[in-house]
Amino acid sequence: MELRNPLGVHALVWAGDTSPDSVAYAIGQTAKTGFDLLEFSLHDSLSMDVAGTRALLQENGLAVACSRGLAFDADVSSTDSAVVERGEKLLHDSLTITHELGGTHFTGALYSALGKYGAPLSAQGRANVVRVLQGLAAEAGTRGMTLGLEVCNRYETNVINTARDALRLADDIGADNVLVHLDTYHMNIEEDDLVRPVLEVGDRLGYVHIGENHRGYLGSGHLDFTSFFHALADIGYTGPVTFESFSSAVVAAGLSNDLAIWRNLWTDGEDLARHARAFLANQLTARPA
Ligand code: MN
Repeated sequence: MELRNPLGVHALVWAGDTSPDSVAYAIGQTAKTGFDLLEFSLHDSLSMDVAGTRALLQENGLAVACSRGLAFDADVSSTDSAVVERGEKLLHDSLTITHELGGTHFTGALYSALGKYGAPLSAQGRANVVRVLQGLAAEAGTRGMTLGLEVCNRYETNVINTARDALRLADDIGADNVLVHLDTYHMNIEEDDLVRPVLEVGDRLGYVHIGENHRGYLGSGHLDFTSFFHALADIGYTGPVTFESFSSAVVAAGLSNDLAIWRNLWTDGEDLARHARAFLANQLTARPA
């Protein structure tokens, strides 16, 4: 049965860095396990051979998406203009890399560092987020790209923790290529349930991460994926659905620490990915849109 969504897998299932060998392995494994799309985190994108990666993706018939969070010293939600400027540059450089890889989706915590903030977001910080993302959205628009505002939990950002927060932020940015990115792992921590946020976001949903409550094997935790996938069907969502999982078995310098990946939830990425591919396909075919 033809699935209505491209199925993606996060590169951290395969490798923790973007050296040519790691990228070749991740692309080969993504194709081998039957996914349509590979998502790269651009946290160490400076090491990536962009042209070579694009060619290899094309050879393997894979789509690509990119994600990232910012850093506390390069953070567009800061009130320090030098810190904001460094964050803005990271965003524009990452958008360019995504475009050069052949991707049309650039998503993630594009609005803050990934980490525990010691205070609520300030009004000036939020205004900086809006201003920078308006500029980024305009640039993305000229390239036919969309930006995703990934809704992250309170321990990873203070900018948007719920779908409603994300809709308000997208309203203030006011660009129709800025969409909401929902992630079941974060929703489990912050939302009332896994259904209402999907219905509220509706046709402004642009990207989806599927992760268990502990970010391990799908189905091994307590998330009600059936209800979530039914809600996706009910809003007619046809965008990417990307499996995201992390284990201390694959370590990315920086990102693994930012996401608090301390535990070994799996060791065999290929087994994990095959299982996830089947799980996602089963959920998507169980309720036709
Ligand atoms: Mn995510």
